[in-house]
Amino acid sequence: PDAMPGSKSLFERAKKVMPGGNTRTTVFVDPFPIYAARGEGCRVWDVDGNVYYDCINNFTSMIHGYTHPDVAAAVVEQLPFGTAFGAPTLSEIELAELLVDRLPSVDRIRFTNSGTEGVMMAIKAARAFTGRPKIVKIEGAYHGSYDFAEVSLDSSPSNWGDMPRSTPYAMGTPRGVLDDVIAVPFNDVEALRAVFAAQGDSIAGVLIDPMPNRAGLIPARRDYLRAMVEIARAAGTLVIFDEVISFRLGWSGAQGLWGIEPDLTALGKIIGGGFPVGAVGGRADVMAVFDPTRGKPALPHGGTFTANPVTMRAGLASMRALTKESFAHLDTLGAFLREGVSASFDRHGLAGQCVGLGSLFKVHFTSHPVTDYRSVYPGQAEHRRFDTFHKGLLGRGVLSASYGLFALSTPMTQADARSILHAIDDILGEIAAQRGS
Ligand code: PMP
Repeated sequence: PDAMPGSKSLFERAKKVMPGGNTRTTVFVDPFPIYAARGEGCRVWDVDGNVYYDCINNFTSMIHGYTHPDVAAAVVEQLPFGTAFGAPTLSEIELAELLVDRLPSVDRIRFTNSGTEGVMMAIKAARAFTGRPKIVKIEGAYHGSYDFAEVSLDSSPSNWGDMPRSTPYAMGTPRGVLDDVIAVPFNDVEALRAVFAAQGDSIAGVLIDPMPNRAGLIPARRDYLRAMVEIARAAGTLVIFDEVISFRLGWSGAQGLWGIEPDLTALGKIIGGGFPVGAVGGRADVMAVFDPTRGKPALPHGGTFTANPVTMRAGLASMRALTKESFAHLDTLGAFLREGVSASFDRHGLAGQCVGLGSLFKVHFTSHPVTDYRSVYPGQAEHRRFDTFHKGLLGRGVLSASYGLFALSTPMTQADARSILHAIDDILGEIAAQRGS
């Protein structure tokens, strides 16, 4: 905090006009967050002139880091032509074509302004298509700030039974929302079968992030996803993949890596090139619920800034720059860091592990196998450790997300990855020493 007087005073000022000085819960850090001044490549500078390797990348969305020349040029070219119209533009067709081309399961796509809206429209599309009310989701998995997606996001151990209970995340969640969302344990085929045997004919969709961050950043097992598709199909239920984050895992996202074709896919983050974005895509017959050419669609959907040409052009430039070589580079950096961080835990004799895939990794301060939400639910001791870890990294010039999530970007080099590893190793050593004292 001593090195951050500028951020501290901005936070004081913010508190006078925003609740708790905050307009985005996820970026709050106690006692105050650093305020960003600028970014370039894989680095960000705060308002006090401190520089950090950015391993948050706006919560995984800035896959090329900052000021990628093609993305910057695309935005600058669009600005003199206008930024948003009450009419469609060519740019939305071009980005849709790229995404439909990369995702074999997506025949048709619609854009939204956030991942939250992408997931929301996927849920609503599943309900409109099937005429059923219920959604199944994974315990503890985050899908944005939409009532139905938030159920069971944060169920405390006092709520843990054999089967997860539908618990509200926010005060004021209507009872009906809880009734219509069934939470299931992650990677558990039998639990899924049991839920479908009892209620299959009222379930519109089963929503899953193939590598849910808040449920541990552990990949879904392929046999689990296969079984999910089979169980859902037999019940007439749609499978919805939330690839808002996991689309950064490969050319065709997680579904490409796993070889699974969901009925609907929600996207966001990287597809907007750093601008607000989301999307829902999928099978042509399902996506037809949005089709207005034959009168009022089954599911009307608007959005004043939906598919605005700045987002679309930035997204297109960013996705075009994301080549197969980019993914290979990110995979190499990710593997190097996962191995290095795991080795660091061992070397310091500290309980912990590093999980993830591709350009994403996560640190857990626990040595038992991380399997699902319950296995990572942090107790007081882990909370303190994450806090020390997060702040210790900040002091060593690395910006990570709270609870140990790291997202890499294409401008990072091997040398950058070594520096990041060095910082992580150093703070883990310090935590191990504290534990011993
Ligand atoms: N789904 C997942 C898996 C996410 O991680 C997020 C955001 N972190 C969302 C949906 C919501 O996206 P947005 O913040 O753009 O609304």
